[in-house]
Amino acid sequence: MSSRARVLVLNSALGPLDYRVPAGMTVEPGSVVIAPLGPRQLLGVVWEPERLPSDAEVGDNRLRPLLGVVDVPPLAAPLRRLVEWTADYYLAPPAAVVRMALASTSALEGKRTATEYRVTGEVPPRLTPQREQALARIGDRQGLIRELADIADVSDAVIRGLVKVGAIEAVEVAIDSPYPHPDPGFGPPTLAGAQAEAAATLVEGVAAQAFRPTLLDGVTGSGKTEVYFEAVAEAIRQGRQTLVLLPEIALTEPFLKRFHDRFGCEPVAWHSGLRSTQRRRAWRAIATGEALVTVGARSALFLPYRNLGLIVVDEAHETSFKQEEGVHYHARDVAVMRGKFEGCPVILASATPAIETRQQVALGRYAELKLPGRYGAAEMPTIEPIDLIQQPPERGRWLAPKLVTALQETLAKGEQSLLFLNRRGYAPLTLCRTCGHRFQCPNCTAWMVEHRLTRRLACHHCGHVLPTPRACPECKEEDSLVACGPGVERIADEVAALFPEAKTAVVTSDTIWSPAKAAEFVGRMEAGDIDIVVGTQLVTKGYHFPNLTLVGVVDADLGLEGGDLRAAERTFQQIRQVSGRAGRGAKPGHVFIQTHSPKAQVMQALITGDAEAFYDAETEARRDAGAPPFGRYAAIVVSSEEQACANEVARLVARAAPQVEGMAVYGPAPAPLAMLRGRHRFRLLVHARRALDVQDVIRDWLGALDWPAKARVTVDVDPYNF
Ligand code: ADP
Ligand code: ZN
Repeated sequence: MSSRARVLVLNSALGPLDYRVPAGMTVEPGSVVIAPLGPRQLLGVVWEPERLPSDAEVGDNRLRPLLGVVDVPPLAAPLRRLVEWTADYYLAPPAAVVRMALASTSALEGKRTATEYRVTGEVPPRLTPQREQALARIGDRQGLIRELADIADVSDAVIRGLVKVGAIEAVEVAIDSPYPHPDPGFGPPTLAGAQAEAAATLVEGVAAQAFRPTLLDGVTGSGKTEVYFEAVAEAIRQGRQTLVLLPEIALTEPFLKRFHDRFGCEPVAWHSGLRSTQRRRAWRAIATGEALVTVGARSALFLPYRNLGLIVVDEAHETSFKQEEGVHYHARDVAVMRGKFEGCPVILASATPAIETRQQVALGRYAELKLPGRYGAAEMPTIEPIDLIQQPPERGRWLAPKLVTALQETLAKGEQSLLFLNRRGYAPLTLCRTCGHRFQCPNCTAWMVEHRLTRRLACHHCGHVLPTPRACPECKEEDSLVACGPGVERIADEVAALFPEAKTAVVTSDTIWSPAKAAEFVGRMEAGDIDIVVGTQLVTKGYHFPNLTLVGVVDADLGLEGGDLRAAERTFQQIRQVSGRAGRGAKPGHVFIQTHSPKAQVMQALITGDAEAFYDAETEARRDAGAPPFGRYAAIVVSSEEQACANEVARLVARAAPQVEGMAVYGPAPAPLAMLRGRHRFRLLVHARRALDVQDVIRDWLGALDWPAKARVTVDVDPYNF
């Protein structure tokens, strides 16, 4: 036995390092260990030496000893292979990827218990409507008083009152307390036609326990969730774990509810809103295999599942699966790779699949299952354009008369409406009408966005905020500032002016920042406490409100600005998804799309519902341009607090660009956000043939260069947003 171990040390820019394994300590590949680095003690993971070259060869006698082994299961081989693949493909340090598996260190260290509260079932002597609502909404959920108050939409005092009378009790939760086991037989649906066939195929796939990616392509409301739940049920029956990835944590809440209806308890949730004890508990249960079903945002992808039997990526077309910070990866693509290493099926569910995914189907690499119609009596909504040139809104308003009439009628019928505008805040730009001053972020190339609800101007890129001033900071003129353009808050104001009696809710990441907030929103929608929702892309997917029958797209042209490669595709997906919120129950749905160009191809495709025609044309255009999925891009971004430095290093990188057949390098040019968080950014765009190993080329190219420490060079393979 060797007494040497190669260790990927976390929080380190270094590659793997060798350590001495002291007598009496046993480690194996995947063991989580504590390693000394300089004066510090860091977590690390033991790796096979033959798979990762050491950064520095050190003789046996100079090795430092490992300090301890952490009492958690070792990271299994399939996860270690995934870490290597991700580091390789996305040109990231392996240690940065491994850190995601350990969910930084907070998953391993810290307090072992927490005090939570839960409903006892005891009926309080005085059952006020508020108390009744609180107990009903909390159900069998557990949490801090604050969290329960959030879920129930009541004050902390109400929850404390319930504790006092014994209707809610405190419980100690240890990080190793078990989770309830979902029951596959709890509430199975009766599947019909195409649903039953698709479910049977997916169940077979899970039973076969082999890698098989499948696109589950079904229109909104066709029952995709019900169908893939059957595959989840099969994995549970086999005692194997399932991971369900969702694009937004706000969607976790409706998912948990539906899961509860189907399986009798909630799955383990993994997202950034977890408290540290919840995190530790979830991580351990995942690592021991005890957590049978985990639902989470993209960070759940690298967790150390013990025996993964199924991966589902819901709303698989969503661009929020693309991570834009730290390790730049696409969770949908990494999910497929994880399935490959684990040897389990991967289901990509979407009503509007990405062109990349459709191409994999066309090449025969992914299977495809289709659900062509909505479930039950629900019909697809009617979709009608409103030509903003022919039928413009009144001066100073944003909703055209036709849409206002439709809102009026929907209100009169006691049904709900949704107005979609993908812009947070009140107005995207504020300027002074006296001197023309515009509020720009000091750290970014971006306007400060006015938020009236919080009376602040905010930068949506770096989070810089300032109180909305009364006077112009330039010319000191009072009451001279004007808001330009609409955000959701402004639309909500317009609705309030038009329909003072209507109950309106603004739904954006400013108002729904946690699953508890989402629960509150769902509760109010279901109780009919909201007539009109004004929301961003946060409300375009996942939700199922049968009484929501009208959808108005306030500015359908918004996403087409900027000329991004995926602009048309994204516009199509977003508007089709938001349209899909209308008429999901027995009542028919209607959608109005406000646009300046109703004749544009993407608008026509939305109106006629001819998705195939749109996809075909878009796919051909990509093929002609050699754009993904037919060719490949990588962005090299050079940033520095000093503009001259960023510019210089970008030029240095450009000059060193290798001549490679099938590859072209463009730039450097100022990046789309030329300044971000106080750093100036220049970008080179690498365009390559699909078959070219562009990562290898870039690794050699950048590996041979040196630049000053004040410049940072990051590579984004398969970038979005350009
Ligand atoms: P999608 O995910 O495709 O948009 P959902 O799975 O949300 O569709 O289904 C839409 C609605 O129809 C949900 O309320 C769902 O519970 C219901 N539904 C779908 N299929 C069935 C079924 N076979 N039996 C009962 N309800 C179903
Ligand atoms: Zn900023």
